[in-house]
Amino acid sequence: MKHRLPAVFLPLLLLTGCISKADQEPPTRTAEIFAMDTYMTLKACGAGAEAALDAASARIQELDDLFSVTKEDSDISRINHACGMPTVVRNETAAVIGTALAVGADTGYALNIALYPVLRAWGFTTGSYQIPARETLDTLLASADPKRITADGSVVVVPQGYELDLGAVAKGYTGDQVTEIFRQFGLTSGIVSLGGNVQALGTKPDGSKWTVGIADPEKPDSLLGKVEVEDCAVITSGSYERYFEGEDGKRYWHILDPADGCPADNGLSSVTVIGRNGARCDALSTALFVMGTEPAKTYWQKQRSFEMILVTDDGHIFVTEGIASDFRTENGKEAEILHGGS
Ligand code: ADP
Ligand code: MG
Repeated sequence: MKHRLPAVFLPLLLLTGCISKADQEPPTRTAEIFAMDTYMTLKACGAGAEAALDAASARIQELDDLFSVTKEDSDISRINHACGMPTVVRNETAAVIGTALAVGADTGYALNIALYPVLRAWGFTTGSYQIPARETLDTLLASADPKRITADGSVVVVPQGYELDLGAVAKGYTGDQVTEIFRQFGLTSGIVSLGGNVQALGTKPDGSKWTVGIADPEKPDSLLGKVEVEDCAVITSGSYERYFEGEDGKRYWHILDPADGCPADNGLSSVTVIGRNGARCDALSTALFVMGTEPAKTYWQKQRSFEMILVTDDGHIFVTEGIASDFRTENGKEAEILHGGS
């Protein structure tokens, strides 16, 4: 495992350039938190920023306590240990599961929140990496059918032996919640990066858009490009984010293809999804990564309800037309614009 922080800190680096001039502009406050297994940077602008950050930090902790797959009394752990019986959880836990199931159903089950035992077999849950035997994967996949999971109101039911993990959606949902708290505190400007998943509230205090860096999957310490946004989530899934190298010299990463239980290897090295709803963008970034280049393009063309930046593993960049004018690449790289057609 190569420990890498840049995907986490890239947005932070870009943010530090926009600290307000104290005299003329409202206060800007930042907080750094480690939660959900990742570094988070929160920036709140305006009167009340300090209190908003405190409330947001407490809320992040609360969501970590609900969604954690390792904390014993989290909603997710209780579901995973319910032996097939219904589990009463917070409405929001059931709702996030519901969002993930809906995106799963809509993407041919490229997103499957029941893969935790498969992630464990690869060692992604502990860092003790190994390449599981084909039979092991097949056995585990037999107990990971997302169609057998139900989430209704505050009740979640999964068959015995199933284990859920919200790693693909929790940070996106958390970003939504943090910006909602900022709003409740009367703020109209702020930006948060939750392990590289960015959620922007409004614009910068001076009215210009926020700049979010997109990592170069080949050199994750560098930027592939920058996108200017206001009031939306910018969420990336990439094969460079967490991986190990096998004795065969191949890389094995943490986003699995539910079709075979192996790292999804369908032509993409990163997918960035940009849209209003962070939970959905997070779910989609993972699902589109699994689907691969052409299915991701087709899916976007049918939906058109979000924007995306695809980076293929042979270095091509595709950007959807709705954000093409707000995206620029670094080092003169070319990006091809995807059009929706009629
Ligand atoms: P990250 O959390 O690294 O930003 P993602 O949002 O793409 O990236 O989520 C990846 C995480 O989701 C993995 O670490 C794992 O916990 C889980 N996961 C992996 N493959 C899938 C999948 N096909 N469907 C749902 N969850 C997945
Ligand atoms: Mg995701």
